[in-house]
Amino acid sequence: MTAQPIDGKSFAQRLRARVADAVPTFVATAGRPPGLAVVLVGDDPASQVYVRSKGKATIEAGMASFEHRLPDTVSQEELLALVERLCLDEEVDGILVQMPLPAGIDDRAVIDAIDPRKDVDGFTPVNSGRLAIGEDGLVPCTPLGCLMLLKDRLGDLSGLEAVVVGRSNIVGKPMAQLLLRENCTVTIAHSRTRDLADVVRRADIIVAAVGRPRMIQGSWLKPGATVIDVGINRIPHEDRTRLVGDVDYESALEVAGAITPVPGGVGPMTIAVLMRNTLVAACARAGLPAPAGL
Ligand code: NDP
Repeated sequence: MTAQPIDGKSFAQRLRARVADAVPTFVATAGRPPGLAVVLVGDDPASQVYVRSKGKATIEAGMASFEHRLPDTVSQEELLALVERLCLDEEVDGILVQMPLPAGIDDRAVIDAIDPRKDVDGFTPVNSGRLAIGEDGLVPCTPLGCLMLLKDRLGDLSGLEAVVVGRSNIVGKPMAQLLLRENCTVTIAHSRTRDLADVVRRADIIVAAVGRPRMIQGSWLKPGATVIDVGINRIPHEDRTRLVGDVDYESALEVAGAITPVPGGVGPMTIAVLMRNTLVAACARAGLPAPAGL
């Protein structure tokens, strides 16, 4: 069997186009564009790239982008004061604080300061709790993007065996909650899981969010399984570097039914869902229904 690649890049482009199509209706009703504020602390090169891409995507969608860059010497109080101002700013519908934050700043305190209605990353306890109890709320972008790809590929997920490898608060745990909400039978595996290959082998759906290059082998997979590879790992390649996922793509292609490539799979979905979450948050704040099809 040769697995079909799942084209996250083109799915993400279509999602971003649907968001952009819905923005003028919001503007006509609310009298202003939806606004996303992104806060970057320090000069981590990867974070700078992410923040630039997010700003560009926001503007391309017809929304307002507010970028706040702070030096890594900023105090926690100053950062919290900025987040508080953004919470009160009527033109801001979404607040995203780019992680990781410099040592000495308590990530959790900063996340907790975000108004849950503007929490487009879905990281606040209120939105995590809503997801856990099955209520509507803002859901973390990467797992929601993975779920969209899975539903696009498989339709109804009800009754399928899903294994999520990784239990972080930003990917693994919310992914498992989303799959449970779709009536999958969900297993969460992590670094203490015994015989991971055996656990993975029973899955119809595998979501790999580990951060270990090519860890999951094709020989671990059930034939025909759908594989979503969240991992983004930079490894040395000849005299440069290249990106690989957490799944050994070549061996997985031989066994899986469908698989997301790295790059071009899950990665582009994260920003597209961020645009979607910003518009959804803006509509909720303006008392408007979320646009259909998002
Ligand atoms: P974390 O480091 O927060 O979590 C990694 C998880 O993997 C942990 O739960 C850990 O278990 C588990 N793990 C580590 N080693 C093993 C192992 N040998 N066997 C089984 N489980 C293991 O990572 P994130 O969730 O933040 O990210 C995961 C990957 O996804 C990274 O490559 C990251 O770059 C990528 N990513 C990609 C995004 C995108 O847009 N495509 C967005 C976010 C992340 P334990 O809890 O026991 O330590």
